[in-house]
Amino acid sequence: MNSTERVAEIQHFLEFIMMRWPQNREAVAARLAPRCRRCILSERYAPLVDGLCPACRQEEAGDEGGAGVAAGASGAVGEAGTPRAGAAEALRDLLREYEGAASADSPAPASAAASREYDALLLFSGGKDSAFLLHRLRAEHPRLRLLAVTVDNGFFSSVAMANARRIVERIGGVDHMVYRPRSELFVKTFRHAFTHLNEGGCYTTVDRMDGDLVFDIGRNLAAMLGVPLMIAGLSSEQVRRVLGLDHFESPRSRELARRETSAGFDLQSLYTPEEQRYWWDGRRWGEGRVPRVVYPFFAWDYDEAAVREMVVELGLIEPGADNPLITNNDTIPVMVAVDIAKMGYCGFEPEFAELVRQGKADRATWLAVFEAAEALVGEGRFLPHCIADTLTRLDLTEADVGIPKLQLNG
Ligand SMILES: [Zn+2]
Repeated sequence: MNSTERVAEIQHFLEFIMMRWPQNREAVAARLAPRCRRCILSERYAPLVDGLCPACRQEEAGDEGGAGVAAGASGAVGEAGTPRAGAAEALRDLLREYEGAASADSPAPASAAASREYDALLLFSGGKDSAFLLHRLRAEHPRLRLLAVTVDNGFFSSVAMANARRIVERIGGVDHMVYRPRSELFVKTFRHAFTHLNEGGCYTTVDRMDGDLVFDIGRNLAAMLGVPLMIAGLSSEQVRRVLGLDHFESPRSRELARRETSAGFDLQSLYTPEEQRYWWDGRRWGEGRVPRVVYPFFAWDYDEAAVREMVVELGLIEPGADNPLITNNDTIPVMVAVDIAKMGYCGFEPEFAELVRQGKADRATWLAVFEAAEALVGEGRFLPHCIADTLTRLDLTEADVGIPKLQLNG
């Protein structure tokens, strides 16, 4: 399957959601899992009472009591999902510390900055979040010498790669490196993850291992090149849910140590010593080479719709080619299908439900995406050619990953 066919199948699915799903839904409504009437959470993930999921019940109770329970429930973010006071300023000050480019009022950069080529390595996927991140960093910190790095895991979608190139060109002033490790590394990782899912499904197994490995490759490149800072575009929800952090910067102790596990798997027993070098071991580099790691979206107010609008407005990503569930990575359709087949819901849903709850993602859109996916997966009709193609590249069958037979004819 070539990339044009892949994109066409995805576009067809998105059109189906927009145009025909409202009518089609009635015919299959009885088979769909009930979902929270306030966000979109499936009953298969959490029990509904009066049509509300636990988080929404807590928020409604908080609203009635006027006690601000909603803000407390979301932990790391304050009222209405805004970042903690002072976080944006603290991040701005941190980034300023590393700005090494000369300016009119201070022509010579500090000695530490003068001895290096780049001040920060930006992990750059070409998706809308990283596009917005690059744009904002260039606008607010023009003296920060950025190296944008796209780690191609071998399943990087052609849409994402084309976007990445175009975004870097449009924004300008940034060197861009595409790093593609040997394909066996990620094939092995995906094969293991897809066939050893933990209880959170693909989201906490496949996506987690992929993300950890990409980030660790970024850390190793930064250490190798002597870049003192790594910047990544995780949302505040992801920083909290996935990394378990309550701050925009990863704790120094974590960065100085070795990663022992990913998604619960012991990396030393899973990978050869040669392969283990792609995973992070801060002790290998010495403290001076270990980059600080920051997640700006944790400090900035993150609004999915606003990010998307700005990115499309800037002409950075073509409209319709920016659905993050589908365009980022050729393994995502498989993840969605496997999760729905095995758990009855997609492991990405809780994160999107939280974005809906915070008013940061459009409820109708994501409700339609997840319900339509739920209906189509059971019939083997959810992006069947995309999924078949990715499984072939991983040398896996439908039975290996536990999904219904794909309907590849019509
Ligand atoms: Zn809810």
